[in-house]
Amino acid sequence: MSPTAAPLTSVPDAQGHFGPYGGRYVPETLMHPLQELEGEYFRAQQDPEFQKELDYYLREFCGRPTPLYHAERLTRELGGARIYLKREDLLHTGAHKINNAIGQVLLARRMGKTRVIAETGAGQHGVATATVAAMFGLKCVIYMGAVDCERQALNVYRMKMLGAEVVAVHAGQKTLKEAVSEAMRDWVTNVRHTHYILGTAYGAHPYPVMVRNFHRVIGDEARRQILEKEKRLPDLLIACVGGGSNAIGLFYPFLKDESVRMLGVEAGGEGITPERHAARFQGGSLGVLQGTRSYILQDEWGQIQLTHSVSAGLDYAAVGPEHAWLHDQKRVEYTYATDAQTLDAFIRLARLEGIIPALESAHAVAACFERAPKMSKDSIVIVNISGRGDKDVSQVAAKITL
Ligand SMILES: *Cc1c(COP(=O)(O)O)cnc(C)c1O
Repeated sequence: MSPTAAPLTSVPDAQGHFGPYGGRYVPETLMHPLQELEGEYFRAQQDPEFQKELDYYLREFCGRPTPLYHAERLTRELGGARIYLKREDLLHTGAHKINNAIGQVLLARRMGKTRVIAETGAGQHGVATATVAAMFGLKCVIYMGAVDCERQALNVYRMKMLGAEVVAVHAGQKTLKEAVSEAMRDWVTNVRHTHYILGTAYGAHPYPVMVRNFHRVIGDEARRQILEKEKRLPDLLIACVGGGSNAIGLFYPFLKDESVRMLGVEAGGEGITPERHAARFQGGSLGVLQGTRSYILQDEWGQIQLTHSVSAGLDYAAVGPEHAWLHDQKRVEYTYATDAQTLDAFIRLARLEGIIPALESAHAVAACFERAPKMSKDSIVIVNISGRGDKDVSQVAAKITL
């Protein structure tokens, strides 16, 4: 079967499997909460009232639709494909994360929950969750590794300003993985009145499919916008891949369009040697981590490997199960950008276009610098600018002298 045949858009199956990936690998105590969530989510998805409410808040509170911006100077500089930027950086709170946070908080309200919890790495998802919780007057607790709390002190303060409680997690490596484990423990204990707003297209079913569906608005808009501007589909889509939510959000509505190629960009860190990167498709292998089955960076004994990236949002040992499947189907190509390439792209985009991207998004920009010059002038590329770079300015300043 051709990799772009129709079944691509009907995955996952009823148990949340994307081919051999995905599923639900959790302790018995989490089965019931996940089943309840699955039932409520699929009912909400079919309910026009829910969709109407979601559209309303996406437009009025989050700032959708975001522009699809023709980057003229960047296009001229690279001398190849015409480049468009999908401006998710212009959303409220500065990144795509709010698309999912608003969707899940509406679901939590529908389920009668009065408290929401979330994990966060760099703090962007924590801020998005604290924001929507404040907007609806829900109690909010954010779990964050103690190391990340230090690295991202500004976001910790932002969450507290928004009324959230931020719990620093001191277990293990004190980063994102441990924060997810703590959030799951909280959820099991408090599930009657608490909803867990997971922040990426990862975890046990139904999270990967639900989070994807809340982000597909990115690709739905981009498709409409490019058809309006260029009267045809793009040739290449580029997005960075952490857990994979901004990328799958852009890619999903184009999966059936065989002429549209897609490129996911992982964190190459200091290069592809163990523990110095977070590129799961470069040396990762099949395994189970935090509720799902996917490509995971692990050693020969199945111990999760350390990861590294200049960008905290891409610094995770596993990738969303749908990406694992799209990788194996060869529908999406996956590459990586190193820290050095990313920092270069960060500065160049700022100076060419007046847009300071998040370091995560700068990975996608770096891949664009490499690919666009090799493409003909009548081809079209869309790069997802998943977030803005304000949060990263001090970190970049510490690495580059201008
Ligand atoms: C969190 C984050 C990412 C990575 O998460 P995905 O789920 O892979 O999209 C990318 N860009 C920005 C700006 C982020 O905040």
